[in-house]
Amino acid sequence: MATLTIIKYPNPILRKKAEKVKDPQSPEIQKLIPAMVETMRKNNGMGLAAPQIKKSIRLSVIEENGVVYVLINPKIKFQSKNKIIMEEGCLSFPGKFIPIARPEKVKIRYTDEKGTDKKLKADGLLARAIQHEMDHLDGVLLIDKKEKKGKISIKGK
Ligand code: ZN
Repeated sequence: MATLTIIKYPNPILRKKAEKVKDPQSPEIQKLIPAMVETMRKNNGMGLAAPQIKKSIRLSVIEENGVVYVLINPKIKFQSKNKIIMEEGCLSFPGKFIPIARPEKVKIRYTDEKGTDKKLKADGLLARAIQHEMDHLDGVLLIDKKEKKGKISIKGK
């Protein structure tokens, strides 16, 4: 399987609000999902959002502890008040790591690769990856979220 090209900042596609996936079962989406997983792995990423491979659609893949999550049209249902600051990287910003504060826990709803509606509760690294990849679907990038100096920080990890 061919790996896909990951676009880098400041490519304007990264700034677009992505369109809803109308049919998760369509052959195009079904082909795209494994190609995205492979591309993420080859680049040692924990997640990859479709806009990063020039598809402005609401689809991202995440792998944590050997589990692959395919998030189609994901929606945040809950974010904890408690935030944690951790350094974050992005395949569209090679070599860049930025401390970012994000809610420690999230609950989301999404459709998986089989077209099934799912709920997921996440914390730790998975919660962070979910929020990072979902930001991509709204054209939000880690440079927008940079933690301002002087704030009280709780170190993650
Ligand atoms: Zn990213």
